[in-house]
Amino acid sequence: MLFRKELIFSTNCREDLIDITSEINSAIRESTIKSGVCNIYVPHATSGVIVNENDDPNIIHDVLGVLRKLAPKGSFLHDKIDGNGDAHVKSAIVGPSESIPFENSRLLLGTWQSVMLCEFDGPKQSRKVIITLID
Ligand code: ZN
Repeated sequence: MLFRKELIFSTNCREDLIDITSEINSAIRESTIKSGVCNIYVPHATSGVIVNENDDPNIIHDVLGVLRKLAPKGSFLHDKIDGNGDAHVKSAIVGPSESIPFENSRLLLGTWQSVMLCEFDGPKQSRKVIITLID
């Protein structure tokens, strides 16, 4: 069996990591599937998804800081098109999806793990996150 739901998030700044764990667990509760695998996918070329800690907010700054060093703004061929070459490269490094097991309608995340939507070219009014549950 398969369940699919699209979630929409707006982002407030150019770069951010946004904890979307509770929204994903809510989507899982809407489904009749109680256990299986949850795929979280963003259909965008300048965003991504990671699993990491959101308890210490410094981790967001640390992760974004490393990505900025790896892909400095203004240093890419694509900047001639729309000035966001760094956002595309950061998106490629992080990747567009994560797959996480769930049980009893809840993601099996570790104590310190959260699912984070990565924004690299915000602010954007509508970032789609596609949730697919497979039992
Ligand atoms: Zn672009």
